[in-house]
Amino acid sequence: MKLTDSVQFLKGVGPKSVENFHKLGIFTVQDLLLYFPFRYEDFASRSVFELVDGEKATIIGTVVTPANVQYYGFKRNRLSFKIKEGEAVVAVSFFNQPYLADKVEVGKEIAVYGKWEQAKQQLMGMKVVAQVSSPETGSNVNSRYGVDGLEPVYHLTAGMKQSQLVKVIHQVFESDLLSELPENLPEFLIKKYRLMNRQEAVLAMHFPEDMEAHKQALRRVKFEELFMFQLKLQALKNKEKSGRAGLEVVFEQGEIDQKISELPFELTGAQLSALSEILTDMKSPYHMNRLLQGDVGSGKTVVASLAMYAACLANFQAAIMVPTEILARQHFANLKALFPELQISLLVSGLKVAERREILADLVSGHTHMVVGTHALIQEGVDFYNLGLVITDEQHRFGVNQRKILREKGQNPDVLIMTATPIPRTLAITAFGDMDVSIIDELPKGRQPITTRWVKHEQFSEVLSWIKADVAKDSQVYFISPLIEESETLDLKNAEALFAELNEYFGLFAKIGLLHGKMKNDEKDQIMQEFKAKKLDILVSTTVIEVGVDVPNATIMVIMDADRFGISQLHQLRGRVGRGTKKSYAILVANPNSDSGKQRMKIMTETQNGFILAEEDLKMRGSGDIFGLRQSGLPEFIAADLVNDYNILEVARKEAVEIFKNADEFPDLIAQVIVDGGFD
Ligand code: ADP
Ligand code: MG
Repeated sequence: MKLTDSVQFLKGVGPKSVENFHKLGIFTVQDLLLYFPFRYEDFASRSVFELVDGEKATIIGTVVTPANVQYYGFKRNRLSFKIKEGEAVVAVSFFNQPYLADKVEVGKEIAVYGKWEQAKQQLMGMKVVAQVSSPETGSNVNSRYGVDGLEPVYHLTAGMKQSQLVKVIHQVFESDLLSELPENLPEFLIKKYRLMNRQEAVLAMHFPEDMEAHKQALRRVKFEELFMFQLKLQALKNKEKSGRAGLEVVFEQGEIDQKISELPFELTGAQLSALSEILTDMKSPYHMNRLLQGDVGSGKTVVASLAMYAACLANFQAAIMVPTEILARQHFANLKALFPELQISLLVSGLKVAERREILADLVSGHTHMVVGTHALIQEGVDFYNLGLVITDEQHRFGVNQRKILREKGQNPDVLIMTATPIPRTLAITAFGDMDVSIIDELPKGRQPITTRWVKHEQFSEVLSWIKADVAKDSQVYFISPLIEESETLDLKNAEALFAELNEYFGLFAKIGLLHGKMKNDEKDQIMQEFKAKKLDILVSTTVIEVGVDVPNATIMVIMDADRFGISQLHQLRGRVGRGTKKSYAILVANPNSDSGKQRMKIMTETQNGFILAEEDLKMRGSGDIFGLRQSGLPEFIAADLVNDYNILEVARKEAVEIFKNADEFPDLIAQVIVDGGFD
């Protein structure tokens, strides 16, 4: 057998289970070896004398009484027996697992994992870890995945069992295929950072002898992942530099300044410096590849609009792609108001055939200067005359490929990506190593902080009467219905139920609109327009409202069952208010039953700073899947975490840069990252 062979040739992998392996991304034996557990169960055996009440542990003892199964009611029973561990006699009970009686034989040794109940001197069994045939050969419990080790726990898919996966992986290790796994790090790095070699590390990732071995294995695997990642970034950067030159966008700065002076507000210092970084890139003969980051409400749109204007002044076309139609229409209206002298198009799905044909003709003939659109922009048949600037808003909503398709509709246009995802600057620069980063870290003047309150469902009627008083004073209110991730139908039902409840409560007192994802586009648009024009006092919505929507007069945001949302989503939702000069409120209605739910509600009431929230979120979740980082086109890391392993990331980056400086010495390594291609 070879490492490249399909897992289906392994014992215990039938035609059915092979599909399950595929679902996990495991196709070959090598994939299986590199499919690491995400945690370990510590089954190291302990003495009962060391245990404290409630602790979970494995005890090894000799069975001194036969198993007794007591039935009491349908499918309910209790199996009990006693074991002797040293001088202690311990009662062991299992609920509803009568078949375990087969494993209990008087005089034989057994290892049981369970919860220690001090007062009763009893172990509530959870699992029979191993059955030892005779005390003399007790050593077999100590085998790789036995009592004295850490048992790996893998992510599974439905229909798969931990034990099956463990068996199959164990088989691979027994077959000695591991010795064929090549080392992929340069020898000098392994020495310099005292890393485990690859084979040792892979074995210790699955079946570590102790926590220290696991720690060392993990360090090696993380380094490898981050180093390969940084090598790729370097390869991409080099390609970019040596490759196609970008456009030179020639325009009069005076005309931009003129526009800025016509704005109804003064740009913040942060907006001005971001704009200046963008315009400098555009003017230069190099290709711009820039990320514009700014918290919700920091005013990214106007900066983007001015960049588009610069492209048009230089006789190029500019396009902006946004994730929702509501947002597209909002941008479209803004741009038209800002640049009445320009030809601006809106391209969304569901247009009438003739209308669409006309828009497409205008794009390709160059009649259109600017276009705003949704995914409709990247469809086939959408062609440009000379696309010079491509912007994507709320980038985490788009895949890397979608952005690439849009970019390729021009002749290497400048690229600007906007995100409200607060990624700490250092991290952003390292993670998006092939991109430049601008940050708007200042809110416009005159913004009042949003007061956030967390209330329980029992207090909802008080909330309603408070809102009633505010609506009387001309406030506009959003109500976000509970999120049901798995079901759009239930999502809609929830929104409709809330809509009905509020209508009943407010009666003729307030005009209420309903917005949800299943509505037709023009219906959605009409509701939004009515809300904007203050024809509606209250807007009940599913999360379709989450991204980007801007109605400055709306000052109250009520989020129902707020604990169902993640911090980033709550932050985005809350960012729909507090956009004008009036005092704004966010009300989180939630009775969370988990600690993390409670913690999320609490943090939301404590800060409004996106960067702090992002960090708190990181601490709570401790993973790389933060604020859409994962969808942002970064590779998925198996072991490493861009934030928590920042130190390793830095070292890996330094070494990758060095490798590229001495590229001649590492032809194989470099060939490998180039063959694999970049992330695009
Ligand atoms: P985001 O960064 O969340 O996309 P927007 O671009 O939607 O934010 O801006 C939020 C609101 O702030 C909009 O109503 C916009 O017109 C307004 N705005 C933007 N810049 C300023 C500024 N410098 N002063 C006052 N208001 C501003
Ligand atoms: Mg925006």
